[in-house]
Amino acid sequence: MKAVTWHGRRDVRVEEVPDPVIKEPTDAVIKVTSSGICGSDLHLYEVLGPFTTEGDILGHEPMGVVEEMGAEVTHIRPGDRVVVPFNISCGHCHMCGLSLYAQCETTQVREQGTGAAMFGYTRLYGQVPGGQAAYLGVPQAHFGPIKVPEGPPDERFVYLSDVLPTAWQGVEYAEIPEGGSVTVLGLGPVGQMPARIALHRDHRVYEIFQKKRDGVNKILLNP
Ligand SMILES: [Zn+2]
Ligand SMILES: [Zn+2]
Repeated sequence: MKAVTWHGRRDVRVEEVPDPVIKEPTDAVIKVTSSGICGSDLHLYEVLGPFTTEGDILGHEPMGVVEEMGAEVTHIRPGDRVVVPFNISCGHCHMCGLSLYAQCETTQVREQGTGAAMFGYTRLYGQVPGGQAAYLGVPQAHFGPIKVPEGPPDERFVYLSDVLPTAWQGVEYAEIPEGGSVTVLGLGPVGQMPARIALHRDHRVYEIFQKKRDGVNKILLNP
């Protein structure tokens, strides 16, 4: 299959690599239909290079169609349309039981002192081949993949993998009081997402963004 692979600082290539295969009864293989490029992928392009190995497949925001799965994966079937969350969690350990999935004890990368394994994100997070590829091997697939309906285009769902829940959590952490307002710095895709979530939750939202060459602008999204 074709996949986006890392080869060094600022050196990323699309090349032919082996297809993923089912090794554990909790694995699945997904045919990828859309895959986000994250702001944090830029870290791999530059500063996290030392933790990345030549040939690593990048990408942690995929969705697609289930190709096959192991015997213990029962909530999805071949042909199902799914979004795959970026962090890999088992769903049944102590930390998963506390809904702290990013600290899953089954996939946690202890030798690096980081949290749960992640797709396509260096040795720090388990060096799991990522989703900017034609196919994705999904560990812990009895828990991770989320089934989504047929019909609407991928861009209605693909943000469920990372950007939307990350932004939702950011708005949670902000603890905006009843009748309060929130200011979001930056109007890129990730800035827009918490702004839209805060609007959705009936908060007053200010966006501050940089206009080309023209200094900083502020807008109130819901005056
Ligand atoms: Zn991401
Ligand atoms: Zn777990």
